[in-house]
Amino acid sequence: MNAVVVLVDVVDGALTKPSKELLTLARRHGSPVVVAVDTAADAADFGADVCAVIPAVALAEPVASMVDVLAAVCAEHSPALVLMTSTIECKEIAGRLAVRLGGGVVTDAVDVKHGLVVVQPVFGGAITLDATVRGTAVVTMRPGSVEPEASAGAGTPVVLTAPATTRRTVKVLERVAGARSSRPDLAAADVVVSGGRGVGENGFTMVEQLADVLGGAVGASRAATDAGWIDHKFQVGQTGTTVSPQLYVALGISGAIQHRAGMQTAKTVVVVNKDRTAPLFDLADFGIVGDVASLVPAIVAEIAARRA
Ligand SMILES: Cc1cc2nc3c(=O)[nH]c(=O)nc-3n(C[C@H](O)[C@H](O)[C@H](O)COP(=O)(O)OP(=O)(O)OC[C@H]3O[C@@H](n4cnc5c(N)ncnc54)[C@H](O)[C@@H]3O)c2cc1C
Repeated sequence: MNAVVVLVDVVDGALTKPSKELLTLARRHGSPVVVAVDTAADAADFGADVCAVIPAVALAEPVASMVDVLAAVCAEHSPALVLMTSTIECKEIAGRLAVRLGGGVVTDAVDVKHGLVVVQPVFGGAITLDATVRGTAVVTMRPGSVEPEASAGAGTPVVLTAPATTRRTVKVLERVAGARSSRPDLAAADVVVSGGRGVGENGFTMVEQLADVLGGAVGASRAATDAGWIDHKFQVGQTGTTVSPQLYVALGISGAIQHRAGMQTAKTVVVVNKDRTAPLFDLADFGIVGDVASLVPAIVAEIAARRA
């Protein structure tokens, strides 16, 4: 069976949900060969036939060294397909790896169909392309595009050695873990509650309250992040994070094309806006016309009461 090389992420000793999605997709196209840093965790439970692990200390440069590692694994297994998650770092790795392999790269894909036809929404999701790649296809997948399914793989462990990086220009002096939130990661969350200009300067407290009763992540429009009401890392959209949750709740967001580009693949969209002509209502499965300041606290109280 053809190998499919999959770069996975492990957080707190467990494979991340987007990595489980990659493995589920990989199994449809061949035998998954996982590449992981320090540990492949439960990758074998999601179908990994080979679990190739590189110690973090062997990665002198986060991106360039990983490209070297993946290129070496690809040289051994000759995959037609390499999968990774659509993060900024992985997109850089994907581009460099595709050049190294003489293949092609497709980013922000939502599916890989039979015959390695890669499905990619473009122009803010207005058009969906079916793309094929000559040579090895290096594909970054949007989190939330595939339903993860467990399936046992052989899980043969392989310990990789430090790549022979020849163009070392960066030396990592220190690693500092970023602050962790108790909320799910925005890109991979099943539920996202986003606030826009309409929630007002102090409105993110209620956005967070609704996110918390729904067990979701907090997002924002660019108007809100540019105003400094919430950090830019929470921005959803063309120049922010792309999300594909089961449920997306938009509070006081008008629905500019640049915002829609980052959330329109959400399965269910709920919009709360006082302007019934707001363009985001066109995408809404459920819409409420009204003032977020009175509606959101009432919704939070109702959900909390029903769960009590
Ligand atoms: C190159 C480029 C890239 C961009 N990238 C992004 C991006 O990644 N993400 C992004 O979001 N934007 C992006 N933008 C900006 C985008 O064009 C919009 O300006 C932005 O999305 C608007 O944010 P908003 O909907 O919160 O604000 P507005 O468009 O001002 O909408 C506010 C909404 O709140 C409603 N409202 C007001 N008060 C209330 C209330 N009390 N109760 C209920 N509703 C209320 C209003 O009716 C209105 O619909 C980009 C723009 C450019 C040019």
